[in-house]
Amino acid sequence: METLLVDGEAVRARFPILGRTVHGRPLVYLDTAATAQRPEAVIEAEAAYSREHNANVHRGIHTLAEEATGAYEGCRRRVAAFLGAPGPRGVVMTRNATAAINLVARGLEHTLGAGDEIVLTVMEHHANLVPWIQLARRTGAVLRHAGFDPETGELDLDGMIRLIGPRTRLVGLVHVSNVLGTINPVAEVAEAAHRAGALVLVDAAQSVGHMPVAYPELGADFLVFSAHKCYGPMGLGFLVSTPETLERLEPVEGGGEMIERVELDAATWAEIPYRFEAGTPNVAAAAAFPAALDLLEAIGLPAVREHEIALNARAVETLERLGGLRIVGPRDPAARGGLVAFDDPLVHPHDMATIVDTRGVAVRAGHHCAQPLHRVLGLVATTRASWGVYTTGDEIEALAGAIAFARRTMGA
Ligand code: PLP
Repeated sequence: METLLVDGEAVRARFPILGRTVHGRPLVYLDTAATAQRPEAVIEAEAAYSREHNANVHRGIHTLAEEATGAYEGCRRRVAAFLGAPGPRGVVMTRNATAAINLVARGLEHTLGAGDEIVLTVMEHHANLVPWIQLARRTGAVLRHAGFDPETGELDLDGMIRLIGPRTRLVGLVHVSNVLGTINPVAEVAEAAHRAGALVLVDAAQSVGHMPVAYPELGADFLVFSAHKCYGPMGLGFLVSTPETLERLEPVEGGGEMIERVELDAATWAEIPYRFEAGTPNVAAAAAFPAALDLLEAIGLPAVREHEIALNARAVETLERLGGLRIVGPRDPAARGGLVAFDDPLVHPHDMATIVDTRGVAVRAGHHCAQPLHRVLGLVATTRASWGVYTTGDEIEALAGAIAFARRTMGA
């Protein structure tokens, strides 16, 4: 099979699931933006943890508990280093990116009052819309949303900067849109937000692990992402910040692990970041995630990004060749993350995804948790194909063949 990455076959061989068949055909997995497949090293690290080290963290002084704590804290250190973040004390481990955004929204509640403003974009995933809707309902804060150009997928940067004012308390935006693929000018937005004294949250769920992402360069006060979109296990996400910024958040979940001292009617909090991690965490996932980061660093994040840009170019060209498809988002392959969403006026996205699946091709159809974004596009749903380090050019061709088959099947 042709590959675009120099060592593509070597990379693919590390992902055992890619050897399976679906409906009697080789799996063509083009749904990495929903969840990335896991390399054997991650699967093995998770199993090895369960086989050899399983214990609860922080609470015990026996050997297994110390090993589990070492693995768990090792993940925190590894993530801080991977993103060039100030240090492990600024890294909170959560269930996923969604939980990390909720943690910030609820943690900031005590700082917001009626009339304070939260500035977002209409291209956000629901994970970066709904927690702020809930917060606005509770506090009387006002939500403002920057738009984007439905033709090019480009954020209205000037409009967004104009929305930021003296009452703005938080500015939140997605780094890479999970539908348009648009890469947003996060640092410019952050600069404007900081000039106004607002905090900045960047949803990096689609960028971490797919392109070089340096926490200090983005200008984010809070950066969130999920391990499972980054070749790691499900059930683990991150809020990356600084200890000083985390001090501004109230811990919203109470319980074991997050306290310093408990009386029957009072409690004090543990130090940062532990005060945000109530209860038993997903230690097995944390033990395994560094293996995913090792693989990414062995390939090199610039090479990963180049590979995804080459796949973008191939996909846009191949889909345009089919004719009649509306590809959403930027035309320039270097201006989008590793995904292409499209609408075929002849075949409903759900039919499309169902029929291409019969050819072994896994794509996603629907609103991709971005209903307001789709309204701007004038569409209810799109079909999305997305890639990762293991995707090949031949798989893009397989997608095109499957789309043509879907059209024939639907009599289009
Ligand atoms: N933000 C973006 C841009 C996403 O694409 C997703 C997942 O699709 C999320 C947030 C939520 O991620 P999770 O479901 O892992 O919390």
